[in-house]
Amino acid sequence: MSVTKTVERRDVVVRKYTCDRCGKDAAGRTCVMCGRDLCHACIAWDPHCYGDYQDAFCKECWKMGEPHRVTIEELDAEQDECREAWKAACVESRRAEEGE
Ligand SMILES: [Zn+2]
Ligand SMILES: [Zn+2]
Repeated sequence: MSVTKTVERRDVVVRKYTCDRCGKDAAGRTCVMCGRDLCHACIAWDPHCYGDYQDAFCKECWKMGEPHRVTIEELDAEQDECREAWKAACVESRRAEEGE
């Protein structure tokens, strides 16, 4: 068996993302609202959201969310109340059933 060696050179396509806001190297995160690629300097993080999968926003998009976040918070509070009422009814029902 004979072996011939040839060196093949292939072109490698390197995708480089740049920040859609300022043109610097992107940080690999996109705004969850508008989908722009962002660099570290242009990301606004949701302060109410923790962990590795924190949502990233453009600073501009985060600002635009101000009135919407107020509504979301109100709805969240309402949701909590509904859940509490639901739970209270269930606890009450159990008590009645167990004859306390
Ligand atoms: Zn940027
Ligand atoms: Zn955005």
